[in-house]
Amino acid sequence: MSSLTIPSSLDSWQPADVMRWAAGQFGIDGLVVTASFEDAVLVHVAATAVPGIEITLLDTQYLFAETQWLVDELTKRLDLNLRLIRPLPDVLPDNLWQTDTEGCCHVRKVEPLNRAIAGKAAWVTGIRRADGPTRADAAVAAFDIGRGLVKVNPLATYSDDDMALYAHLHELPAHPLADKGYASIGCWPCTRPVAPGEDKRAGRWSGSAKTECGLHV
Ligand code: SF4
Repeated sequence: MSSLTIPSSLDSWQPADVMRWAAGQFGIDGLVVTASFEDAVLVHVAATAVPGIEITLLDTQYLFAETQWLVDELTKRLDLNLRLIRPLPDVLPDNLWQTDTEGCCHVRKVEPLNRAIAGKAAWVTGIRRADGPTRADAAVAAFDIGRGLVKVNPLATYSDDDMALYAHLHELPAHPLADKGYASIGCWPCTRPVAPGEDKRAGRWSGSAKTECGLHV
């Protein structure tokens, strides 16, 4: 890993080329691709650029039914190699999201992610600079010191228009909530639609200071 050189030109690469670079660097078994399935773009990029690559979904127990639908639809359409990572067996559905969102995200997202990336050399995510101010500096690829691996964000430079064009060109299904004002989609208890002009992630943990679930920090 110490000999890894991250190309300085990655910002100008297409997402599929970033995926192929990552697969070449780390091997298909050295990568973990996590997808939230709030849209189909990352999943399509990863599965078509690196056929057979495992796509990991963190099943928090609180995914929207509409998200489950998109998971099923894309799994069939793209013949996805889907891996579901669930919370530990002693984490049962509860009301923690009402009283302790940090604790709830920890047992349903952070701990499962740590299991998903254990032993991997690189982690591929769908975060984009256009997601909002907290992600404005996201690199296409950079060493994540905290987690001890390389974090690869093939869509980091994609604007909302780029995402829409990609989805249109590849005739990808949309998340059913996308045209109902849900600009960012996570767990149903902690996601609301946003009003015109609001930040895209304003509907996540609305009314609290929390802006990230702990995965992308
Ligand atoms: S987003 Fe909400 S429901 Fe989902 S894990 Fe975090 S606190 Fe729990």
